[in-house]
Amino acid sequence: MEKTLVLVKPDAVERGLCGEILRRFERQGLRLAGLKLLHLTRKQAVEHYAEHRDRPFFPELLDHITSGPLVAAIITGKDAIARVRRLIGATAEAVPGTIRGDFATSVTANVVHGSDSPESAARELALFFPLETTLGAD
Ligand code: UDP
Ligand code: MG
Repeated sequence: MEKTLVLVKPDAVERGLCGEILRRFERQGLRLAGLKLLHLTRKQAVEHYAEHRDRPFFPELLDHITSGPLVAAIITGKDAIARVRRLIGATAEAVPGTIRGDFATSVTANVVHGSDSPESAARELALFFPLETTLGAD
Protein backbone atom coordinates (compact mmCIF):
# COMPACT_ATOMS: atom_id res chain seq x y z
CA MET A 1 0.00 0.00 0.00
CA GLU A 2 1.16 3.52 -0.82
CA LYS A 3 0.08 6.94 0.39
CA THR A 4 0.05 10.05 -1.77
CA LEU A 5 -0.98 13.68 -1.45
CA VAL A 6 -3.82 15.09 -3.56
CA LEU A 7 -4.70 18.77 -3.61
CA VAL A 8 -8.04 19.86 -5.04
CA LYS A 9 -6.80 23.28 -6.12
CA PRO A 10 -8.60 26.59 -5.43
CA ASP A 11 -10.09 26.79 -8.96
CA ALA A 12 -11.79 23.43 -8.43
CA VAL A 13 -13.01 24.24 -4.89
CA GLU A 14 -14.45 27.53 -6.22
CA ARG A 15 -16.27 25.67 -9.03
CA GLY A 16 -17.76 23.07 -6.65
CA LEU A 17 -15.75 20.15 -8.07
CA CYS A 18 -14.47 18.63 -4.79
CA GLY A 19 -16.96 15.78 -4.69
CA GLU A 20 -16.53 14.91 -8.37
CA ILE A 21 -12.73 14.86 -8.13
CA LEU A 22 -12.55 12.76 -4.94
CA ARG A 23 -15.14 10.39 -6.48
CA ARG A 24 -12.80 9.76 -9.43
CA PHE A 25 -10.22 8.31 -7.02
CA GLU A 26 -12.71 6.43 -4.83
CA ARG A 27 -14.40 4.70 -7.77
CA GLN A 28 -11.03 3.21 -8.75
CA GLY A 29 -10.72 1.63 -5.32
CA LEU A 30 -8.40 4.26 -3.88
CA ARG A 31 -9.30 5.33 -0.34
CA LEU A 32 -9.32 8.56 1.64
CA ALA A 33 -7.05 8.43 4.72
CA GLY A 34 -7.01 12.15 5.58
CA LEU A 35 -8.89 15.27 4.47
CA LYS A 36 -8.77 18.98 5.26
CA LEU A 37 -9.64 22.37 3.79
CA LEU A 38 -7.06 25.14 4.13
CA HIS A 39 -5.97 28.40 2.54
CA LEU A 40 -2.20 28.27 1.93
CA THR A 41 0.04 31.16 2.88
CA ARG A 42 2.58 32.29 0.28
CA LYS A 43 5.32 30.76 2.47
CA GLN A 44 3.60 27.36 2.56
CA ALA A 45 3.06 27.48 -1.21
CA VAL A 46 6.76 28.26 -1.82
CA GLU A 47 7.70 25.29 0.35
CA HIS A 48 5.30 22.89 -1.37
CA TYR A 49 6.41 23.94 -4.88
CA ALA A 50 10.11 24.57 -4.00
CA GLU A 51 11.33 22.48 -6.96
CA HIS A 52 9.79 25.08 -9.33
CA ARG A 53 11.34 28.11 -7.62
CA ASP A 54 13.35 29.19 -10.69
CA ARG A 55 10.73 28.45 -13.36
CA PRO A 56 9.15 31.38 -15.24
CA PHE A 57 5.64 30.25 -14.24
CA PHE A 58 6.45 30.20 -10.47
CA PRO A 59 4.78 33.56 -9.58
CA GLU A 60 1.63 32.63 -11.47
CA LEU A 61 1.61 29.20 -9.82
CA LEU A 62 1.91 30.81 -6.35
CA ASP A 63 -0.86 33.31 -7.14
CA HIS A 64 -3.16 30.50 -8.17
CA ILE A 65 -2.51 28.02 -5.35
CA THR A 66 -2.99 30.81 -2.74
CA SER A 67 -6.04 32.34 -4.47
CA GLY A 68 -8.56 30.60 -2.20
CA PRO A 69 -9.11 27.52 -0.04
CA LEU A 70 -7.94 24.13 -1.29
CA VAL A 71 -8.73 20.61 -0.17
CA ALA A 72 -5.78 18.40 0.83
CA ALA A 73 -6.31 14.64 0.90
CA ILE A 74 -4.25 11.59 1.78
CA ILE A 75 -5.11 8.92 -0.79
CA THR A 76 -4.09 5.31 -0.14
CA GLY A 77 -4.04 2.12 -2.16
CA LYS A 78 -1.83 -0.24 -4.12
CA ASP A 79 0.39 1.84 -6.43
CA ALA A 80 -1.58 4.92 -5.31
CA ILE A 81 1.09 7.41 -6.46
CA ALA A 82 1.15 6.32 -10.12
CA ARG A 83 -2.59 5.57 -10.27
CA VAL A 84 -3.49 9.02 -8.96
CA ARG A 85 -1.16 10.64 -11.52
CA ARG A 86 -2.81 8.64 -14.34
CA LEU A 87 -6.29 9.67 -13.22
CA ILE A 88 -5.17 13.32 -12.99
CA GLY A 89 -3.73 13.41 -16.51
CA ALA A 90 -0.83 15.28 -18.06
CA THR A 91 0.31 18.77 -17.08
CA ALA A 92 -0.26 20.08 -20.61
CA GLU A 93 -2.94 18.89 -23.03
CA ALA A 94 -4.45 16.25 -20.73
CA VAL A 95 -6.68 13.84 -22.63
CA PRO A 96 -10.47 13.65 -22.08
CA GLY A 97 -11.41 11.15 -19.39
CA THR A 98 -8.65 12.36 -17.09
CA ILE A 99 -9.55 14.86 -14.36
CA ARG A 100 -7.53 17.63 -15.96
CA GLY A 101 -8.69 16.66 -19.44
CA ASP A 102 -12.29 17.05 -18.30
CA PHE A 103 -12.00 20.11 -16.03
CA ALA A 104 -8.76 22.11 -16.41
CA THR A 105 -9.25 25.61 -17.82
CA SER A 106 -5.52 26.42 -18.29
CA VAL A 107 -2.07 24.94 -17.65
CA THR A 108 -2.05 26.80 -14.31
CA ALA A 109 -5.70 26.37 -13.27
CA ASN A 110 -5.57 22.60 -13.68
CA VAL A 111 -7.84 21.65 -10.75
CA VAL A 112 -5.69 19.06 -9.01
CA HIS A 113 -2.20 18.15 -7.73
CA GLY A 114 -0.81 14.67 -7.10
CA SER A 115 2.63 13.73 -5.76
CA ASP A 116 4.89 12.51 -8.57
CA SER A 117 7.12 9.96 -6.73
CA PRO A 118 7.48 8.19 -3.37
CA GLU A 119 10.02 10.86 -2.33
CA SER A 120 7.65 13.70 -3.25
CA ALA A 121 4.74 11.97 -1.52
CA ALA A 122 6.70 11.59 1.74
CA ARG A 123 7.86 15.21 1.66
CA GLU A 124 4.46 16.67 0.70
CA LEU A 125 2.45 14.52 3.14
CA ALA A 126 4.75 15.64 5.98
CA LEU A 127 4.06 19.24 4.98
CA PHE A 128 0.26 19.01 4.79
CA PHE A 129 -0.38 16.27 7.37
CA PRO A 130 2.47 16.46 9.91
CA LEU A 131 0.48 14.93 12.77
CA GLU A 132 -0.93 12.04 10.73
CA THR A 133 2.49 11.37 9.16
CA THR A 134 4.22 11.41 12.54
CA LEU A 135 1.65 8.99 13.94
CA GLY A 136 2.06 6.77 10.87
CA ALA A 137 -1.67 6.71 10.06
CA ASP A 138 -2.06 3.86 7.55
N1 UDP B 1 2.31 25.13 -14.18
C1 UDP B 1 2.08 26.33 -14.83
N2 UDP B 1 2.67 26.55 -16.06
C2 UDP B 1 3.49 25.62 -16.64
C3 UDP B 1 3.71 24.40 -15.97
C4 UDP B 1 3.10 24.18 -14.73
O1 UDP B 1 1.37 27.20 -14.33
O2 UDP B 1 3.98 25.88 -17.75
C5 UDP B 1 1.69 24.91 -12.86
C6 UDP B 1 0.53 23.91 -12.91
O3 UDP B 1 -0.49 24.34 -12.01
C7 UDP B 1 1.17 22.63 -12.45
C8 UDP B 1 2.16 23.16 -11.41
O4 UDP B 1 2.65 24.38 -11.96
O5 UDP B 1 0.24 21.72 -11.91
C9 UDP B 1 3.33 22.26 -11.10
O6 UDP B 1 4.00 21.95 -12.32
P1 UDP B 1 4.47 20.46 -12.61
O7 UDP B 1 5.36 20.51 -13.82
O8 UDP B 1 5.03 19.85 -11.37
O9 UDP B 1 3.11 19.72 -13.05
P2 UDP B 1 2.23 18.61 -12.32
O10 UDP B 1 3.18 17.73 -11.53
O11 UDP B 1 1.24 19.33 -11.44
O12 UDP B 1 1.56 17.89 -13.45
MG1 MG C 1 4.71 18.20 -10.20
